[in-house]
Amino acid sequence: MNETEQNERVLAIDIGGTKTAAALVDGAGRVLSRGRVATPDTDDPIVLVEAVGGLAQQVLGAAGAAIADVSAVGVSCAGIIDTQKGVVVFSPNIPSLRRTPLRSMLSERLGMPVRVGNDATLAALGEWQFGLNRAVADLVYITVSTGIGGGIVAGGKLYEGSCGAAGEVGHMVIDVNGPECPCGRHGCWESLASGRALAERTALRIEEGEASSIGELVGGDLGKIDAQLVSIAAQQGDALAQEMIATTAFYVGVGLANLINLFNPSLILIGGGLSKIGEALLGPAAAVAKERAYVADACDVEIRSALLGDDSPLLGAAALAMGRIA
Ligand SMILES: [Zn+2]
Repeated sequence: MNETEQNERVLAIDIGGTKTAAALVDGAGRVLSRGRVATPDTDDPIVLVEAVGGLAQQVLGAAGAAIADVSAVGVSCAGIIDTQKGVVVFSPNIPSLRRTPLRSMLSERLGMPVRVGNDATLAALGEWQFGLNRAVADLVYITVSTGIGGGIVAGGKLYEGSCGAAGEVGHMVIDVNGPECPCGRHGCWESLASGRALAERTALRIEEGEASSIGELVGGDLGKIDAQLVSIAAQQGDALAQEMIATTAFYVGVGLANLINLFNPSLILIGGGLSKIGEALLGPAAAVAKERAYVADACDVEIRSALLGDDSPLLGAAALAMGRIA
């Protein structure tokens, strides 16, 4: 990286279902100032764009900067995004974004060119550019939380697909007769291996009368079960919780095997809430992946936790703003 690149300043914005984060980021991926707000609960895109604009001004102001001090703006957003047109086609948890020309709306509000991309795709880019310093050329990043998302770097370049929608790995079909997915289809990876799947599977078993300390942990309200709670119960020796995490790890591993066969990555990074369970999940998932992947005998693949934590989509948005997608 030359001096001009290092001195570059961009504004990065990450719009999620519950919160929106923004940061002023330099060319080395350092966060100079940051802020966040609750994503407005609205179906009016103008309200959302106003909230993002206000947050952007606050973050710039905190660093004594103005919009003229940045070279570009990058936005990561949950949902299906047509990156050619800069349109958010659909975002399951952000009702204001439906066929919304987010790029042009934000560009007008901020007075600056804006680039927009999918949050998991950009998380892969952030991990690659600023977590790994492009140490590998073939990387798959997945985030396993309430749902499952992913991003791909192939041949030293962000892989975006024909309209920017590549990497929706959570909706690979793992079991054609599997449970219904929030997307309305059946047996998607997300319906079997996500935090939501883990919680629902656990609640069902307790409802059926299985003994577990989890019932007491939630005071009998099974709707309060989440992945973190199951993880805590597993650490305390609860047999059902341990079994549920093992089942989830198995399904995570099956999906990873498919990704290994498709992309032959040298590295798979796993982020998102479920990755915080750590080795109890990642170890068995990696073992299943290597056992089931057709190409695993030919090439080794390293599977480990992501490096940038919650900042990976934000730093990916910064990399996108800088045009560093290869
Ligand atoms: Zn699905």
